[in-house]
Amino acid sequence: MEQRFVLHNVQTVHDDKPFDIVMENGFITEITEANTASGTNRFDGTGLYVSSGWIDMHVHAVAKLNPYGDAIDEIGVKQGVATIIDAGSCGADTIGDLANEVAKSKTNVFAFLNISHIGLQRIDELSRLEWIDAEKAQKAICTYPDLIVGLKARISKSVVKDNGVEPLRLARELSKLTSLPLMVHIGSGPPPIEEVLELLQKDDIITHYLNGKANNLFESTGEPIPALLEAIDRGVHLDVGHGTASFSFLVAEYAKKHGIKFDTISTDIYRGNRIDGPVYSLANVLTKFLYLGYSLQEVVSAVTDQAAAWLHRPELGRIQVGDAAHLTLFAVQQGAMNLTDSEGEVRVADRYIEARGVVVNGSFVTC
Ligand SMILES: [Zn+2]
Repeated sequence: MEQRFVLHNVQTVHDDKPFDIVMENGFITEITEANTASGTNRFDGTGLYVSSGWIDMHVHAVAKLNPYGDAIDEIGVKQGVATIIDAGSCGADTIGDLANEVAKSKTNVFAFLNISHIGLQRIDELSRLEWIDAEKAQKAICTYPDLIVGLKARISKSVVKDNGVEPLRLARELSKLTSLPLMVHIGSGPPPIEEVLELLQKDDIITHYLNGKANNLFESTGEPIPALLEAIDRGVHLDVGHGTASFSFLVAEYAKKHGIKFDTISTDIYRGNRIDGPVYSLANVLTKFLYLGYSLQEVVSAVTDQAAAWLHRPELGRIQVGDAAHLTLFAVQQGAMNLTDSEGEVRVADRYIEARGVVVNGSFVTC
């Protein structure tokens, strides 16, 4: 970004009064009335919204991993996402590789460390308990304190095999040792979902909370299971983590009907579901929640201030003079768009969100 850069005539989702944002050396130095700030390096944002930079709480950002991998900036700034959180692609053995890639990327990156030291080099990474090594994990956390914000445990049948809920018990111990919260992936059992939920505490994250598999969080009648309500009461955080297989319109409608609202909306994006769907982008996933009847403010909040609050980084969730500029520019377009869930069900939205640009780490990138 040039030394002085002006974003002209933008508005937030909270107020239809447009304004200008002046940035110098990557910091916000002034917020003025629309079309009053001077500067030769400028971008005309007429008709566009600005929010603090979008934060995607669940992505897979290690390009060399298959199937669950992708290049950081492909799922970050090029999609209007300023900050991504890699959700356990790496365990202690490979977290250094992610740190090296972060250094070469424009997107802001944090990570959940996989409790299995092999990470997603295999996709049954918790099928052998000896792969959960507290010493290795603690060493990785000490080496990368600015990168690692939590621990990831994928607790579903294909990952844990015959180990049931034991990997989650070990994750809980590691969480206590390291004072880091858990992000827990849920899916097909065993273990039964109740056994998973009872081990979760305040600030832990359930990702894939709207999955449509057997063993999900809702009764077949659409009611939330009691163990979910208890987990919410304890302060457990609900994250979407759409993914290839973990978002069902039907379940999302149950959740909406019963007021089981997301704390954060995330993609679980990687190369395959970015290119071939059903995820495509964070904007596409956000559009699904507009379609479901949530307001634009609620949807944007789930990828800005609510994600920033979980990270204990409030400056990433606001637009304020003196802060490093961390912004997303986007449009809401009127028109039909087909939306596909993980069950192959297609719905047609009559408006959709389109990312247009990002300011982060002193760069302005258009989408
Ligand atoms: Zn994932």
